Amino acid sequence: LEINLSPISQEGEEWSGVLIVLHDITAVRRLERMRSEFVANVSHELKTPIAAVKGFAETLLAGALDDKATAKSFLQIIFDESERLNRLIGDILELSKMESKRIPLHFSPVHMAEFVEKSLHMMSKEAEKKNIELIMEVESDIYLEADEDRLRQIFINLLSNGINYTQESGKVRVRIEPFAINPDGDYERLKIIVSDTGMGIPKKDLPRVFERFYRVDKARSRSSGGTGLGLSIVKHLVELHKGTIRVESEVGIGTKFTIDLPVIH
Ligand code: ADP
Repeated sequence: LEINLSPISQEGEEWSGVLIVLHDITAVRRLERMRSEFVANVSHELKTPIAAVKGFAETLLAGALDDKATAKSFLQIIFDESERLNRLIGDILELSKMESKRIPLHFSPVHMAEFVEKSLHMMSKEAEKKNIELIMEVESDIYLEADEDRLRQIFINLLSNGINYTQESGKVRVRIEPFAINPDGDYERLKIIVSDTGMGIPKKDLPRVFERFYRVDKARSRSSGGTGLGLSIVKHLVELHKGTIRVESEVGIGTKFTIDLPVIH
């Protein structure tokens, strides 16, 4: 709490009262703290892959290069970690652009059945590797006014999480439900539901999964190439479309993300 005192004086008189201003600065403080935590997290996240690249390159230079098999596996690690760095920096830039509202959205009507089919197709290679079935439940003739590139990013992030955090032979499903039918019989809102039959998220972690760099299982997220930023990007993009997102999950059963969006902007 910030307190300011200033005397109130009327003409001729010395002073007739005191103006006390109480200013609640907790919100400001919280924002400052969040920002500095973010910077600390970013540095930490960037340092890890850089240390790996440096360490393995050093070992190669010190002689490991002579053993072809070892050299190859070290180079693969260097390559993978450089890719991770690339993704991380891309995601961080994306988030900071969104937070400063510097991304203009280009709205156009998106035919959802075609769009979902294309998005699932983009993920089909990943899914096949784990024999995961991708299921689509979208009626034809549903349209959503959206920025198509951003909408694709939302889908790709949720689908790749669904595939990453689901065991072999599981299922990932996309369902579109129109609702809020107006007197003309048109729907005004859509629910986009992305669910999986995966490992689930413990109750205590659920409220935090949209936070930047929050991961339930750091090792698993890293080994699957995760940056820990996917869901916070999704949340921002949904909000830029004036929508909301929530998550329900049961450990060992699966996870369900529900996005609720207005159809027209
Ligand atoms: P990451 O890059 O680690 O996947 P995200 O922001 O996309 O980061 O997700 C945050 C965390 O939420 C993940 O690390 C994971 O622990 C958990 N999570 C996200 N999606 C799912 C899912 N479909 N099933 C189980 N856990 C999930």
